[in-house]
Amino acid sequence: MNNPLLEEFKNEYGIPPFESIKEEHYLPAFDKAIEEHAKEIELIIENKETPSFENTINALENSGELLSKVSRVFYNLLSAHSNDNLNKIASEISPKLSRHNDSISLNQDLFIKIKKVHEDKNPLNDEQQRLVQIIFDNFKLKGSLLDDDKREVLKSMNEKLSSLSLKFNQNTLKETNNFQLIISDPAELDGLPEDLIELGKKQAEAEQINDCWLFKASRENLYPFLTFSNNRSLREKIYKGYILRGKNKNSENNESLIKEMYSLRKQKANLLGFDCHADLALQNSMAETTDNVSDLLNQVWKPAKKRADEEITEMQKLIQKEGNNFQLEAWDWWFYSEKVRKDKYDFSEEDMKPFLSLENIKTAAFTTAERLFDIKFIKLSEYPKYHEEVEAYKVIDSDKNIVGIFLTDYFARPSKQGGAWMTSYRDQSKNNGVQYPIIINVCNFPKPTRNKPSLLNFEHAITLFHEFGHALHGLLSDVTYPSLSGTSVPRDYVEFPSQMMENWIRNPEVLNEFAKHFETGEKIPEDLMNKYLNCQKFNQGFATTEYLAASFLDLAWHTSDKDVTDIRGFEEELFDSINKPKEIDSRYGSTYFNHIFSGGYSSSYYSYMWSEVLDSSAFEVFEKNGIYDKSSGQKLKEFVYSSGNSKDLMEQFVRFNGKEPDPKRLLEKRGLA
Ligand SMILES: [Zn+2]
Repeated sequence: MNNPLLEEFKNEYGIPPFESIKEEHYLPAFDKAIEEHAKEIELIIENKETPSFENTINALENSGELLSKVSRVFYNLLSAHSNDNLNKIASEISPKLSRHNDSISLNQDLFIKIKKVHEDKNPLNDEQQRLVQIIFDNFKLKGSLLDDDKREVLKSMNEKLSSLSLKFNQNTLKETNNFQLIISDPAELDGLPEDLIELGKKQAEAEQINDCWLFKASRENLYPFLTFSNNRSLREKIYKGYILRGKNKNSENNESLIKEMYSLRKQKANLLGFDCHADLALQNSMAETTDNVSDLLNQVWKPAKKRADEEITEMQKLIQKEGNNFQLEAWDWWFYSEKVRKDKYDFSEEDMKPFLSLENIKTAAFTTAERLFDIKFIKLSEYPKYHEEVEAYKVIDSDKNIVGIFLTDYFARPSKQGGAWMTSYRDQSKNNGVQYPIIINVCNFPKPTRNKPSLLNFEHAITLFHEFGHALHGLLSDVTYPSLSGTSVPRDYVEFPSQMMENWIRNPEVLNEFAKHFETGEKIPEDLMNKYLNCQKFNQGFATTEYLAASFLDLAWHTSDKDVTDIRGFEEELFDSINKPKEIDSRYGSTYFNHIFSGGYSSSYYSYMWSEVLDSSAFEVFEKNGIYDKSSGQKLKEFVYSSGNSKDLMEQFVRFNGKEPDPKRLLEKRGLA
């Protein structure tokens, strides 16, 4: 069989030939790629020469290229454009991959060689030294120092864990689509914005439900519905649909999966010599210890809760003022906070939307990067794509050298996972000839409608800049070894370059230049801009509290010693202990907390806040020197966006910033100081 996945991607830019890749190509390609990788590892082990950086570390870096290529195509599509068949393949391949990865990371002969190179006193350059240290540490953390029996136990744990986390993810996606809020009476659409109504119509039609509107338990449906629907009981319905995902008594229930993962992760950490999973997961992180993480979270929790309580009082007053006497509930928050915002600041999110077309915001993002980093984005017309909505850009530097390829897949569709993310089809490296990166941003923005272009709300605009920041981290990478490239940095650092970019779209100078009305071309009127600026710190009690609650929940699952019989009980006990307001739920409940049960963020959900301390400190430089200051941009590129994990990250930060990051900046930015 001709299998395009096994051949060189021959088009001009090395983008995978999506049109010729068929589902039946994946399994044989995985098998072949795993076999090839295993052979490459065998060759490293069988090499009779004294272990050296070249014949061991660099050889490892160069191994598994085919597997990486096949995996990237498959897993990118599994998230961005999936179906039942791809899910089935994923279930089949996940234990195989886990076994294969273990056969490398738990291979004693290989580890002995790595250890030799690690002990070796031969001179290496800084990047090489760092690479050796990181690879050595990783092998150690994966269990290379364990004896044979324990390694076997570990392997079976890993295999089980990878299947469980995949199942968790699949269940959440199914539950999001399982829930249906069907509205047949147009009166019940009261208050909903036109684009949401149109989306509801389309979603109903897709399920062959005529003359109705259908809303799902996705965040894209949920938030606008909760903000604008005038029907309190429908708001409650969709909210409960959302938070009950994974708790319903059906085959997509995630509760037993969580219990099993909880106990397996603990056992695994113990086997590796750690008290709990969090201690294991925080090795090689910037935060270093769970105590440091708790310190930061606790430092922010108190002022956040205080502000949240004030916000609750404000909303409760408004409810009373409107002649109602019910208590504010979690599902009321969006609706009433929007009302308070209108009341207090005379500002509605909806007023901004006509100025935030996807095209405008994209131009703002590209231009910001072009000015800061001296690069250019050039739109391509001919390139392979897996969906007609995928766009491609060639990124070049000032000498017209290609920096990388940037793909965008911006619109929501049922085959896509919720949320937004950046991944790559190829990472930048220079150890085996120059490889430029192929990066993609996948989002869930609203599609253009019959008479309007895609209009973003402010949250979407921030998401676009956020993911674009990750993309730049991948695109501008300039290191030698692929393991140290781009976003291959500790979890609690990786959100720094992405959140850093958010600072630009929040800035009035950027909005004034790029946010133009989609019909009239006018910029945001001064009056509206002032209102927007006035409410920058609005609702931060809520936003910070719901985020922190989720971070505490994550830590609890990975530090606790208790026997857990009941998920809800476990959550309640934790939330009582931190005195969480009942009007604010954790941003994610355990049963749909993909980040920590299927997304690699276990014990690391705090990372966003850790990184925010970095970005709020770093943006001070641009506030001082001008937001497009060339020399600050060049420094930001040199010390942050291009250096991947090739240097000590805190040292790099200080080189850029002139001083260590300060949590106070975060409190000020959120208006909690
Ligand atoms: Zn991110």
